[in-house]
Amino acid sequence: MSSHYMSGLVVRAEGTPARIEELRLPEIGPGQVRVRIRAAGVCHSDLSMINGTLRPPHPLILGHEAAGEVVETGEHVTRAAVGDRVVLNWQPACRNCWFCDHGEPWLCSTSHGVAALENGITLDGAPVHVTLGVGALAEQVVIPENAVVRVPPELDFDLAALLGCAVLTGTGAVRNTARVQPGESVLVIGLGGVGLSVVAAARAAGAAQVIAVDVTEAKKSLAEAAGATDFVVSSENLSKEIRSRTDKRGADHAIECVGRASTIRAAWRATRTGGQVTVVGMGAADDMVQLSALEIFSSARTLRASVYGQADTDVAVPALARDVLDGKLTLDHLITDRIRLADVPAAFDRMARGEGARSVVVL
Ligand SMILES: [Zn+2]
Ligand SMILES: [Zn+2]
Repeated sequence: MSSHYMSGLVVRAEGTPARIEELRLPEIGPGQVRVRIRAAGVCHSDLSMINGTLRPPHPLILGHEAAGEVVETGEHVTRAAVGDRVVLNWQPACRNCWFCDHGEPWLCSTSHGVAALENGITLDGAPVHVTLGVGALAEQVVIPENAVVRVPPELDFDLAALLGCAVLTGTGAVRNTARVQPGESVLVIGLGGVGLSVVAAARAAGAAQVIAVDVTEAKKSLAEAAGATDFVVSSENLSKEIRSRTDKRGADHAIECVGRASTIRAAWRATRTGGQVTVVGMGAADDMVQLSALEIFSSARTLRASVYGQADTDVAVPALARDVLDGKLTLDHLITDRIRLADVPAAFDRMARGEGARSVVVL
């Protein structure tokens, strides 16, 4: 086959803006699939790739939350066929390493970190890195077959895309990591696509109180639509405010969806004695969280991270897809903007200003 070219959103160097570039696709190899992206979400982790929070290598194709259609399969591919509708998985499980063997495929040790260089896509003849091994803010991706999860063809591409990061992460944090029980109180800090998914999953799990927190009043109606019982604008007095709403104890759970030391610390302080703090946000390497030795002991709290919803993506994504099709899981309120690839920089600006929920690129 002769050369395939496509457009993708690329950052050429640290501190430079993301721009649409013409990229050359490689011939696909054994075990790989080529997917035409039909919808891709703009996730906060993509913003973190360009605002200095994360320090990825460059040039870099942004994007990792997407769904599309398989258009070509390499030799020996058994998991997908041309025409399949698929969700992309940015943490594919090798099924061979210690973590996969011990039931923790979301921690698979073959993970790429923030960017990979292995799929052969080039920019001006030189290899280009792809965000989280995916690089989905582009017309096409070339990925290993274990990085696609088939979903029913009736599922809309834009909703399917959300299952690949925000919804899997948010739902899994509630069900698999925090294991929220009926009647409990849950504080959710940061109301982007992940945080709003946490709010909805916490209500669905039977939480009696879901207190949603963000930096501006602008997220109030989105939080309420997702099922929040309370909405609080973040302030210096957050823990006092949360205590006043939880019989002076603090919340049973706090789920932090920002990835900043200050909000992790706020989540910790607003949680009751013996409560659980779950960190979902991906933060910076040098942003240190301070906890005293005495408060760790005397508060008896648990502090945990939830990576990619602590879920087996191959099982969880098809299950979430069925829930959407059966009407048990409503995602429409999560998509506040349907945009083109060229509009992604403006979507990053909205995200930085704390506006809207998910912007989804429709291709
Ligand atoms: Zn994401
Ligand atoms: Zn593995």
